[in-house]
Amino acid sequence: MQILDGRPVRDAVLAELADMVAQAPRAPGLAVILVGDDPASRVYVGQKEKGCAKVGFHHETHRLAVDTPEAEVLALVEQLNGDDRIDGILVQMPLPDHIDSDRVLMAVDPTKDVDGFHPVNLGLLVSGKPRTVACTPKGVLRLLDHYDIPVSGKRVAVVGRSVIVGRPMALLLNLKTAMGDATVVMCHSRTPDLAAEIRRADILVAALGRPEFLTREHVAEGAVVVDVGINRVDDPSAKKGYRLAGDVAQREMDGHASALTPVPGGVGPMTIAMLLENTWECMQRRLEVQGG
Ligand code: NAP
Repeated sequence: MQILDGRPVRDAVLAELADMVAQAPRAPGLAVILVGDDPASRVYVGQKEKGCAKVGFHHETHRLAVDTPEAEVLALVEQLNGDDRIDGILVQMPLPDHIDSDRVLMAVDPTKDVDGFHPVNLGLLVSGKPRTVACTPKGVLRLLDHYDIPVSGKRVAVVGRSVIVGRPMALLLNLKTAMGDATVVMCHSRTPDLAAEIRRADILVAALGRPEFLTREHVAEGAVVVDVGINRVDDPSAKKGYRLAGDVAQREMDGHASALTPVPGGVGPMTIAMLLENTWECMQRRLEVQGG
């Protein structure tokens, strides 16, 4: 079974970005808004800061208390929308319950929406003219491309229909493009016979958020397995008291699947790389507009 390691691919993307930044008129700027102190969010934000530092981006993290009123978060988004040093704005999810996430995401200037979650960017994807595309699905396609795994003409089962992963993943795979032209089935919690749907697929993209939920019986022999899931599972024998598990029972795939993205180290590193690439691309478009 081939292991689709995301780390060398991420490193190559970062090296290319660092070269381009060194020759750019200014450094791209990424602003992250973190409300509260969710431990997983803190880790993700830390990884984004490290990534920015590696490629020479200007980056700032706005850490707000968990009880910050929604109006204050919206005011900060507005301020960053108008800040010329900032090309990308990322609001770390989940937000506390008293804040309407949709309202905050809608407030981000679509040209600075590096996550690709704004309806304008989602709409462009639906219409077949993608502009800024969500980082995780974009990273999955880049990873498959790097390892010469074609998707054109293949049957792909995407499990999960979130706006962050499953839905844009299915839309991208379905586009008439070099890394598209797949026949896609998008599964979710109401899919009656999940195993039957997935077993028909040449490629499985698992994004359910349920640790090791998909087992050998779900996956066709020889299928390519992309495991997007990142789940914390209690493990008293681990130093931190937990381990990270994917949505696929990874050990069961050995001798069964033809290729697998490991967790951690598969899709995760690609997400960071694509975030930085999206920030770079947002800056390029802004410079073009300013120049013209
Ligand atoms: P989410 O918003 O909770 O969505 C989960 C999706 O899975 C929903 O569409 C849900 O169906 C579906 N689902 C849940 N249980 C199911 C079941 N038993 N059978 C079939 N479908 C089921 O999660 P998400 O934000 O998309 O994230 C999914 C996973 O990816 C999580 O583990 C997350 O941590 C991980 N993730 C990883 C990265 C990365 O960089 N690697 C990035 C983002 C997310 P319904 O719509 O019917 O409820």
